Amino acid sequence: MRRPSWLSGRRCADPWLYLPPLDLRSLTIEELRECVARQGEPPFRAEQVFRWLHGPGPGGVGSVRALDAVSNVPRSLREALLAEAPLQPIRLDGAVTAADGTRKFRFRTHDGCAIESVLIPDDKPERAKLTLCLSCQAGCAWGCTFCATATLGFGRHLSAGEMVEQLYWGMESAGCKPSNVVFMGMGEPLHNLDPVERALRIFEHPWGAGLSPRRLTISTAGVVPGIDALAKIQPAPNLAISLNATTDEVRDRLMPINRHWNIAALLAAARRFPLAHHRRITFEYVLLAGVNDSDMDAARLPRLLRGIPSKVNIIPYNPVPGLPFERPSAQRALAFQNAIRLADIPVYIRTSRGSDAAAACGQLAARADEPLLPCELAALAKTGRAS
Ligand code: SAH
Repeated sequence: MRRPSWLSGRRCADPWLYLPPLDLRSLTIEELRECVARQGEPPFRAEQVFRWLHGPGPGGVGSVRALDAVSNVPRSLREALLAEAPLQPIRLDGAVTAADGTRKFRFRTHDGCAIESVLIPDDKPERAKLTLCLSCQAGCAWGCTFCATATLGFGRHLSAGEMVEQLYWGMESAGCKPSNVVFMGMGEPLHNLDPVERALRIFEHPWGAGLSPRRLTISTAGVVPGIDALAKIQPAPNLAISLNATTDEVRDRLMPINRHWNIAALLAAARRFPLAHHRRITFEYVLLAGVNDSDMDAARLPRLLRGIPSKVNIIPYNPVPGLPFERPSAQRALAFQNAIRLADIPVYIRTSRGSDAAAACGQLAARADEPLLPCELAALAKTGRAS
């Protein structure tokens, strides 16, 4: 597997300091204000530019954001801004809908990287919950041995604009805003924190999608300094930690990141992570038959989490072709859940959505050289962007 050089040796102390070049859709409102001032334009233009880039299209939320359509931003200003920070849109390459309504999108970045995101309706339609699962990197550097994305190795970090565009495509497809956005697609968000933070700010802005920070979740494999950096971000998104094992011996094998920051270091970071009243850290636990699903594991997990306001999400393994893991039986998953429930920790078994379209957790592995997914572009073509 290809690995970036900083993963071997001591330079990995600062992996999250990567700063990709900025495209126009990655700029925060404050940065747009500065750009507008540099062009000698009055401050109110910054709001117009932000709305032009991120506001709802003429048909309301979820309608097309055709940037060359009529806009109240003067052409000269638009051109000057684009000269400073070009747009680098992602292109929809294909989409496929699973039997349960989960929809996976394949995009191609301007430089040819393939990335995926997934729109997941709630299994109980009356709850009207719609979750968008975004990618923050093409591929992933951390090599979790059970995950499809890891088999790709590391491609590159995505810019904030590329994350924001995944949201807009999801909104266009759904015709509404998602109720929740989770950074649980391809990549490790705390290894690309600056662009992820920008994307959060843009998602939240009332002139854009106006999503509540309480509806945004960052999921990490355990980049401890990244958790500490995330703790300083206000307003804070929700934090999810992929724990996936109860001993360092097993976690080292499943998640090589554990050799950088072991379970004790990870849980110490969770303990010092500031949480608002009534908020909890979500611990994800991918259940792998015969690997991390024993009664001993179920007994150890609550002891590890003692003192941390937590919630546990058990994710029965979604098989990945070629990887040597299996999903445990439904009874095993229930027994595991019950043992944790006894310790008074809220614990849920996350039903896997979209697995028949390889759109479930850990199944995202867009390869640039792979044939395209079955396309369902007709529905999106009406928006004019899928051409
Ligand atoms: N890098 C981040 C986010 C991406 S993975 C992280 O590790 O949290 C999102 C979640 O999917 C993680 O909890 C991960 O452990 C889980 N996952 C990965 N592969 C999986 C698979 N094949 N089946 C079930 N869950 C999986």
